[in-house]
Amino acid sequence: MIEKTGAATIELVKSKFPAKDVLVRPKAIIECYKEIPCNPCETSCPFDAIYIGSDINQIPRIDFNKCTGCGICAQACPGLAIMVAMIKDGKAYFKIPYELLPLPVVGEKWSAANRYGDVLDKHCMIENVKKTKDRTTIVTVSIEQPFLYEFATIRSKL
Ligand code: SF4
Ligand code: SF4
Repeated sequence: MIEKTGAATIELVKSKFPAKDVLVRPKAIIECYKEIPCNPCETSCPFDAIYIGSDINQIPRIDFNKCTGCGICAQACPGLAIMVAMIKDGKAYFKIPYELLPLPVVGEKWSAANRYGDVLDKHCMIENVKKTKDRTTIVTVSIEQPFLYEFATIRSKL
């Protein structure tokens, strides 16, 4: 499926998530599905939560017990393949890497999109915008929890 459409199926996406009771704390979701020579996620994690190992082509594995949800790996990944997810009070919170302009502003509502680019929800709240030294900004958003496994990114303002 991913070879045909370029988008992962919900089953594949779910396989990258921990159990929902683990998501009461933020955890990195690594959607890196192909063996490629790349490891900034592993080398950037200050908590040694991501493992690729000596064969740099291996798909990264994460230890959710070690992951603090800091989001450093999401910023470091050149493929924008990592986000951080958390569940709280019926909402799903995500930290996502975002490289387009204009940047969202805290308090705005943007559209949430799925992995096919379709709009899921037009009331995705921008909770935080963390600019970094490089061009990857980390944007924290909240949406309704039922979109937990479908949410992929944000799209233009309402
Ligand atoms: S979110 Fe932070 S602690 Fe978790 S894997 Fe990424 S860099 Fe490591
Ligand atoms: S840095 Fe990103 S693209 Fe590279 S191996 Fe890690 S998750 Fe995959």
